Amino acid sequence: MNEYDSDRIINSLSANPVKNPSDADIIIVNTCAIREKADHKAVSAVGKYKKLKIKNPDLIIGMAGCVAQLYGKKLIKQIPHLDFVIGPREIPKLRDLVFDIKESASHRKINTSMDVEEVFKINPYHKEGKVNGFVSIQQGCNKKCAYCIVPTVRGNEINRPLKEILEESRLLINQGAKELTFIGQTVNSWKYKGERFHDLLDYLQELDGLERIRFTTSFPRDITSKMVSSMKENSKVCRQLHLPVQSGSNRILKQMKRAYSIEWYRDSVQKLKEAMPDLSLSTDIIVGFSDESEKDFQQTMDLIEEIKFDTIYSFKYSIRPGTPGELMNTHINDDVALDRLHLLQSRQREISLENNLKQVNKSYKVLVESATKNNPNEFFGRTSQNKAVYIKDIDKKYIGRIVEITKKQAFQNSFIGELT
Ligand code: SAH
Repeated sequence: MNEYDSDRIINSLSANPVKNPSDADIIIVNTCAIREKADHKAVSAVGKYKKLKIKNPDLIIGMAGCVAQLYGKKLIKQIPHLDFVIGPREIPKLRDLVFDIKESASHRKINTSMDVEEVFKINPYHKEGKVNGFVSIQQGCNKKCAYCIVPTVRGNEINRPLKEILEESRLLINQGAKELTFIGQTVNSWKYKGERFHDLLDYLQELDGLERIRFTTSFPRDITSKMVSSMKENSKVCRQLHLPVQSGSNRILKQMKRAYSIEWYRDSVQKLKEAMPDLSLSTDIIVGFSDESEKDFQQTMDLIEEIKFDTIYSFKYSIRPGTPGELMNTHINDDVALDRLHLLQSRQREISLENNLKQVNKSYKVLVESATKNNPNEFFGRTSQNKAVYIKDIDKKYIGRIVEITKKQAFQNSFIGELT
């Protein structure tokens, strides 16, 4: 989501990105407020550019994204070298804002309004020939998860019109994209004028030149039988689903206001796996929410043992301002939460490796994306299941092509493969 917004920020200014910040005329730090750590990082990132501003007073420095939305005016007061803050919904207005600042140097700007009419107006920047790209199909979120700051900083759910989704997809395909990831906070709740998410998948399949479709993040409660069968029948939909569970305990899920039970989650996974046995599943887990007991945590550990996710993004609960969670006074001890997080992560590392080892000497279709950063003779690609594969016996003409690869060596997060 943030990467996509950064690409829209570039396009909204018709900017040429530079590698070195000291070569820039404008520096915009795009930020995330999901956990306290991320939001501290954002403020210190802006601090780093103070020296450049002293050297070059014409340099414009701004902060975009959810931290900008959350703290707005406070940031302008706190950081004297910051010229503007702009919320995620205001990106279409960024160009005018920067022009205003250029006209009147003393005028520092705060744009954090939520009532922007055309939130999707700006398309993302896409480097010519880049194999994969993102298309936003939804902004904001209507769920009310007790821990989550997203509805506060990104507003209510707005679904993008089908026509615009298809137009932006065609634009990226014409610029070389072969694989598109469709993004939204709860992407599978997308609906527009009677069309549902499973209809959208059918329309996307028809796009010429598009080889692979991914989407993220799916909300468990919005998995429908129609969605499962549409995924199964759609030859372009990748065999990968990110389905955040957050906890294995019904008691905690209820306090989190996740709107599904663990039985519902299990049942959805079973339906998905029955329809697509080669589906790779990943999830998000929050450890230490509210008064999570040893028993609640054990239920989360049991769930990961049972489902054997390929990847888990796990976090220690972080209290966020303005969320219902902030008002709860039942939080468990921080050290206990941290111990649980480490336990979960170390077991998951083993599971990820065990899953991967089972795939050695098997063949998979890999979309080759690029040469690796450090070695122009080694190439990187991903399988339909989103597994990273490094390949040596090919050359750059393979970039953008889907090739059959045999996995020769497995690691926790990647493979080494060769042409089958
Ligand atoms: N809208 C998406 C995810 C958004 S944030 C969804 O509902 O799945 C990505 C992940 O960050 C969440 O799934 C959750 O696991 C984690 N997260 C969100 N708020 C958090 C908080 N306050 N503390 C710790 N982790 C959090």
